[in-house]
Amino acid sequence: MSEQKTKYDIIVIGAGPAGYTAGIYSSRARRDTLLISGILPGGQLMNTTDVENYPGFDEGIMGPDLMIIMRKQAEKMGTKIIDDEVVSVDFKSKLLKVSTASSTFEANSVIVCTGANPRKIGLDGEQAFAGKGVSYCATCDGAFFKNQELIVVGGGDSAMEEATFLTKFASTVHIVHRRDEFRASKIMQERALSNEKIKVHFNCTVEDIQGDQKFQKVILKNVKNDEMITLEAGGLFVAIGHEPNSKILEGRVELDENGYVVLKNNTETSIPGVFCAGDVHDHRYRQAVTAAGFGCMAAIDADKYLAEQK
Ligand code: NAP
Repeated sequence: MSEQKTKYDIIVIGAGPAGYTAGIYSSRARRDTLLISGILPGGQLMNTTDVENYPGFDEGIMGPDLMIIMRKQAEKMGTKIIDDEVVSVDFKSKLLKVSTASSTFEANSVIVCTGANPRKIGLDGEQAFAGKGVSYCATCDGAFFKNQELIVVGGGDSAMEEATFLTKFASTVHIVHRRDEFRASKIMQERALSNEKIKVHFNCTVEDIQGDQKFQKVILKNVKNDEMITLEAGGLFVAIGHEPNSKILEGRVELDENGYVVLKNNTETSIPGVFCAGDVHDHRYRQAVTAAGFGCMAAIDADKYLAEQK
């Protein structure tokens, strides 16, 4: 068996739209590129069905299919892909180190594209009906629920934004929040609460998520009086925050108080040579197309950085 190559120009960590696009651009710039995919190659799009808003696919495309195409394109350009999980990084010296459980790889530049995951309520039905009426992205899935009643869980800016957006399609949008006041900014609350299609259920926790082939209803508990309420709807949107996948970066690059990577000058992190793209820094847009765009930018920035080191 031939010995595994461990030294590259650029290592990309993560295999969502940001990671694959970074791979495509850095390989096309003739940089010897390794992409370590993580345990779920393809990222959040692997849990999505139809993607109708990724430019270039006028009939839409299934999320997993889009990721397979991006992966093939990166490989065709020359990106070496390893399906393994990065367990640690060492950015103390100029030669940057990235380790899986079994190997350590080195490169002069690293592009972090580890993504984020929507926070989950944590109920069995949530998992069972994910993609079958339970969604974590109104922009992605709202249009599939025309003239139906919808439920949004959460009380932050995301919940207000998603609920307001969903009124474009839904007959009624129910916001379910566990407390008696929203966390969201006043302006976002006002926008949501002034919308006639939005009904609010304060002090309600989601106790169960039920359905048959697809999602049908939630069982709520009013925490003030213990009353149980059944709310039927076409779809359930969980908007209780996101968690960036930045555990391996703690103490290695600057993160904000929520764990998102802090960027300066476009895609640069606090460590020279380490760049970042996608949802692990971007809590604002969180779209496949913006992640891909950031992946492109990070690869161009990494290529320029390497050229300047010569
Ligand atoms: P967030 O501010 O952390 O709010 C999460 C909400 O979900 C809170 O109301 C929280 O309830 C609730 N929640 C958390 N865990 C829950 C659970 N297990 N069950 C039920 N409810 C739960 O998250 P976000 O709304 O995604 O916003 C994240 C950041 O992005 C914020 O800084 C926000 O301002 C920003 N953002 C900005 C915009 C914009 O300006 N257009 C849009 C979206 C997001 P509690 O309140 O009881 O804790």
